[in-house]
Amino acid sequence: MPARVLDPDGPLFDDLGLAENTLEAVRRAGYSQPTPVQAGLIPRAITGVDVLGQARTGTGKTAAFVLPILERMTNEAPRQPGVRAIVLVPTRELAVQVRDEFEKLAYGSKVRCVAVYGGKPIKSQIDKLTRHPEVVVGTPGRVLDHMSRGTLDLRTLEIVTLDEADRMLDIGFRPDIEKILRRCPESRQTLLLSATVPPPVAKLATRYMRDPEILDFSSREIAVETIEQFYFTVDGTRKFDLLQQLLERENPTQAIVFCRTKRGTDKVFEKLARRRKRSQEGDEVDVACIHGDLAQGVRDRVMRQFREGKVRVLVATDVVGRGIDVSGISHIVNYDVPEFCDDYVHRVGRTGRMGRDGVAYTFVTPEEGAQLTRIEVRIDKLLQRDEIPGFVAFDRKDVQRKDSPSEAGGEPAAPAAEEPKPKPAANLLGKGRGAKRHRRAL
Ligand code: ADP
Ligand code: MG
Repeated sequence: MPARVLDPDGPLFDDLGLAENTLEAVRRAGYSQPTPVQAGLIPRAITGVDVLGQARTGTGKTAAFVLPILERMTNEAPRQPGVRAIVLVPTRELAVQVRDEFEKLAYGSKVRCVAVYGGKPIKSQIDKLTRHPEVVVGTPGRVLDHMSRGTLDLRTLEIVTLDEADRMLDIGFRPDIEKILRRCPESRQTLLLSATVPPPVAKLATRYMRDPEILDFSSREIAVETIEQFYFTVDGTRKFDLLQQLLERENPTQAIVFCRTKRGTDKVFEKLARRRKRSQEGDEVDVACIHGDLAQGVRDRVMRQFREGKVRVLVATDVVGRGIDVSGISHIVNYDVPEFCDDYVHRVGRTGRMGRDGVAYTFVTPEEGAQLTRIEVRIDKLLQRDEIPGFVAFDRKDVQRKDSPSEAGGEPAAPAAEEPKPKPAANLLGKGRGAKRHRRAL
């Protein structure tokens, strides 16, 4: 990391809730100010909750988990004698690097850290493990090896850290990681660090973490505030009709419709293609779909057609949609609320590129209010409620909203919104409002 310039307004290590002895170790290590991921992660992790931290390489993720571990090791008595923390890393080099960071920061304390990794005689590692270190750093394969030999027992574990989780999964450590996690006590705290959070990492987090707090420092630079963002409340069963009407109203230059699953993507695409075929002359259908189950050749063709503008509406999953950089995209529709806030930012970031105007719509079912709120907290902005006059968004009578804005009462509050959301004034202007909105970007 290049020498950091002190940010006079930035947080200090003193502000993070660390005990004096840990702060002393930080000072000795020569760190004058926490990096953003450290400032975000440390205060949360020391409370004992599960945290998923996403930040680019070289942003100081190691100390972000090493310091909370040390804080617990030095200031809380062990629940039982034995190994208290384990850190899983993808490579031998990283095992050594993380161990060294531990040693640097644990200087002066009694906490000991042992690195276990392949390619080294197992004997000396066994010797070190028998001396009861509090912390073990290792590659999943070698950790499992020690577990099966009985030289490493994880039953006393208090904290598990998965470092560089995306890389560990990329190189095929998933089965090993899962085997290890299944043998850790349920009461443990789990920290996960990753430069990216692709679906396999998200799945791992869902399965093995307890309601993790997600702290994302990876996309601070994405200027989602230049994109107008709306939401619709709608029953799951009414989403497709809403999509139809929205596409009709907006008549997008190009749009991506994001769905959560591959099957969902296929279904929306098929219905959309059928409808549009009927309403268009000839067989030209300007709708396509893309997801991870399609052959690479098909994916390449669809992307080419989308880039050339032949495809106007692309139905996609997050995986494939994420990398799409097509300048003509005027509209993003989140047909399904993204599972992770981070995905919301990535999805919405597909539009409004290169200073162009963009608008994003998110379909939220009445059960998904909390997810909407999480997104709003993440982007630090309230999404505006939108509606299509005359459109029946709910199946059940008791939750049916009055469609006429002039009818007072009977309208349920926006899901999870504490205060009523401002309704865009442009709402009532139908198609014409597009022109008004787009003027801002000129
Ligand atoms: P990451 O895991 O995010 O790729 P590392 O934890 O390996 O990043 O940190 C990168 C480098 O930055 C290391 O050399 C580390 O010693 C240094 N570093 C970490 N935190 C700080 C800090 N607060 N101030 C100065 N240097 C730091
Ligand atoms: Mg790292």
